[in-house]
Amino acid sequence: MTNTAGFRLSCIQAEPGISRAELARICGFSEMAATRIVRELLSAEIIEESNADDQARKKHVGRPKTGLRIRKDGLFAVGITVSAYHSEVSICDADGQLCASFRLENVSLDSVSQAARFYANALRELIESSGVNIDRIVGVGVALSALTSPERGEIVASEYFGWAHDDGQFCREIQQIIDLPVEIENISNALAIAEMRFGAARDVADFTLVHVATFVGAGIVSDSKLVRGDASVSRGLGHVRSAERPLICTCGRRDCLNLSATGFGILSRMGKLDHLTFDTSKLSYYAASLLAVLKDENAAYLVAEAGAQIAPALDFIGNLLRPKMIILSGYLGSNDVYFGSVKNALVAQFDHDKANTYTLVPGTISSVEAAALLALHALCYSERLDYDRFARAAEQSPDATYG
Ligand SMILES: [Zn+2]
Repeated sequence: MTNTAGFRLSCIQAEPGISRAELARICGFSEMAATRIVRELLSAEIIEESNADDQARKKHVGRPKTGLRIRKDGLFAVGITVSAYHSEVSICDADGQLCASFRLENVSLDSVSQAARFYANALRELIESSGVNIDRIVGVGVALSALTSPERGEIVASEYFGWAHDDGQFCREIQQIIDLPVEIENISNALAIAEMRFGAARDVADFTLVHVATFVGAGIVSDSKLVRGDASVSRGLGHVRSAERPLICTCGRRDCLNLSATGFGILSRMGKLDHLTFDTSKLSYYAASLLAVLKDENAAYLVAEAGAQIAPALDFIGNLLRPKMIILSGYLGSNDVYFGSVKNALVAQFDHDKANTYTLVPGTISSVEAAALLALHALCYSERLDYDRFARAAEQSPDATYG
């Protein structure tokens, strides 16, 4: 049961009100087997039966039957978003709805272990104050600007934070404070996973998410799976050749997309930088300055100019990968002016026609949500669902109903 329970759960989450017979058909096993699995998920208090009234209001009008749905208070996931913009810890329910979050101020990102402990303690406090039972939490999702190895739970490197290979230290520090599985992922990939399961890319098997803030990154989904490449696909887009600028990228070049289509590029054009080389000790300055620029109408033409710079890269992605959708995410990417400018440039310079190629949409999920949604995807709606743990927790519960 354990190995595939997550997949069945995933079907129930995607189709609230699904019947046992439909579930059996989708999963490809007998109705008897479906009935047994449903009984086990019910007794583990992960799903519940929706009543006939609910059903009548939904699509199966006039066909009374008992459907199945995810219990709102059945399982939860928690998240840590490591960002120079808004560092946050959060809790979401099994439907991906944010239940609680807390924004952290003045997080020092100089040391990996110090940062990990700071976030983990804040998350533990949030869990305690929220009243969510830790026995019903599937795990911790961590989203950050770094090259990660999710299967080994390691930060491989972060040119953005200036971190070297951490040998799994970030995740270990968290687990010492919160004894739950930890899933760590690059922010662009975490956003892509979250949009695929809960956001703009539901039912879209092939899409690319481009995350633009201080720098630019991308998450590519092909055939409903994240593309990882040999090294880091997520950071690659930032180093694609673009207009030369009087700035120096983390890679040493002066003509990276990171310098022209991004917050870093805009701040330089506004004369807000007193240095040419990207400086990891100034991340909060870059973040705060960009957020201020996005509120300044006089700076809109520079935001639009940066947007136009990314259009050639998107056109190339469109031709090479043939995605059904490209999602522009991040504080800059989903900004109205930036997004509008990208769209105009694609139409004017590249004859973009959404009837024949991809649709361009703004991201619907914030980086704060993405961390907890990542944990749901990896540890709840997957073969890694620790079904036995929740079955035991339900048995030991003095109260038959949670919440
Ligand atoms: Zn570069």
